[in-house]
Amino acid sequence: NAHPHKINSLLADIEQQFALDEDALISITSHFHKLFNLGLSDYGHQMAMIPTFVTGVPDGTETGTFLALDLGGTNLRVCQVELHGNKAFTLKQQKYRVSEALKTGEATVLFDYLADSVDAFLTSNMESPQSLDNPNTINTDSPAIPLGLTFSFPVEQTALDKGFLLTWTKGFSAKNAINKDVVKLLQDAFDRKHLHVKCVALVNDTVGTALSRAYTAGGCVLGAIFGTGTNGAYLEQVANITKLRNGPAAAAGGVMMVNTEWGAFDNAREVLPITPFDNKVDRESINPRFQAYEKFISGMYLGEITRNLLLALVDAAPKPILFNGKATERLNKHYGLDTEMLSLVESAWRTDAPREGDSEENAVLRDFSAPLAEERIAPATLRRLNRVREIVQEHLGYAPGEVSLRDAALVQWAAALVVRRAARLSACAVATVALQMGYVTGLGKDARAAAPSADRKPYSIGIDGSLYQHYPGFEDRMREALRLLLGEEVEKLVIMGLAKDGSEVGAALGALQATKHT
Ligand code: ADP
Repeated sequence: NAHPHKINSLLADIEQQFALDEDALISITSHFHKLFNLGLSDYGHQMAMIPTFVTGVPDGTETGTFLALDLGGTNLRVCQVELHGNKAFTLKQQKYRVSEALKTGEATVLFDYLADSVDAFLTSNMESPQSLDNPNTINTDSPAIPLGLTFSFPVEQTALDKGFLLTWTKGFSAKNAINKDVVKLLQDAFDRKHLHVKCVALVNDTVGTALSRAYTAGGCVLGAIFGTGTNGAYLEQVANITKLRNGPAAAAGGVMMVNTEWGAFDNAREVLPITPFDNKVDRESINPRFQAYEKFISGMYLGEITRNLLLALVDAAPKPILFNGKATERLNKHYGLDTEMLSLVESAWRTDAPREGDSEENAVLRDFSAPLAEERIAPATLRRLNRVREIVQEHLGYAPGEVSLRDAALVQWAAALVVRRAARLSACAVATVALQMGYVTGLGKDARAAAPSADRKPYSIGIDGSLYQHYPGFEDRMREALRLLLGEEVEKLVIMGLAKDGSEVGAALGALQATKHT
């Protein structure tokens, strides 16, 4: 190749664009913290910071049987959740498909379908729903079964059982629902069908994640989603939610879960390290200039950012750097590269690695100043690289022989760049909550300099989503950045754990809280 040094410097330049050093992490987190407080002070700010009227988290001793209904993903789920009071629960679950016609038709038809699904669930899963032994039933005269609704769309909540739909997302557009109370829409549908079910709580999926983790782990202050999208909800002092003004919730004091809607962080593009690859993702998305932070972090976009990066290498002038200049149909297709493939590539590269997926080792493989001679690669490295090559071939549709070992190394490098940045940016949100809740009083060297105090409590986080659950090393990469932002002492206090069945168990716990208030 005639321009090896040019290629090396082009790759180094790309690497630089994706890097986030301590200063960058700190300025992003400081901005995050500023926007948190703006959002808490008033409505209509970049970060919605929605009060949820969930005024505490469980400790695992709670008991009762509740229905949960989860709308927001591909499937509608109806569950019966039984809380045993020893951090354990049992769950009966049924999935129902939501057709395109239902998503885009009349809202009453959609909500009738939800009610029908609950009816079908009760008929098939309980011998006698009326006699459901539940000490928490709403009204002893007419024992309605309490139900918690997990509704993963932006809602302006005004009470635990009242919330007005702001907009539909994720392909839903049912008519005559915007600005309506979704709890009432659901309850009206139950009543039309004479179901003895009462929707008592509306719970965002992030809040559900926090509640269910708190129940099974005995505590949790932040629920976070790293899946198709990203969002988080944390426990805030009501006194800090100044936009509640003089309402009854403000007078009651105490704590309340706040749904941050952090996916919208930095929509104004002031601090996020935007590359040309990110700009392309945003421009070609269905919501340009919205959900800016989410587009750097979540499963829906990481594959697409990487696809753009790989295409730039395929199209490099004067000579292609990748795949001999050939782009397959899959690589050319919008959203053609799934984040799952990045995860497969990285786990193949990391399996049996001397150190976790050593990047210095990869640096040698992608050094264009010398040809990559197979016999000079250590046998173990060669095995890992060949596995990566097979995954790339299979998932991007290349024929055997069309993907070189160096191509495989470059794909792994690109995946690591994009996902490492995502994990480090995710850490900024986690660190913001730590700062807001007083686990630290400053960031970076200010956090590190603070004297460790004996009474520091663990910072417990419940997480849901495939990216966190399945991507190899995602948590480790997050923790690297947390050590820089919060200092090692505090980072060690961070407990992250999966919230299994978070939406369903969380909805049940929301319903429990509602029945306690009546
Ligand atoms: P949701 O957020 O919709 O409830 P998930 O948490 O399963 O669902 O997230 C789905 C997202 O996770 C998709 O964008 C997909 O690309 C990504 N994904 C699926 N499998 C994996 C995997 N093994 N590793 C990383 N990301 C994955």
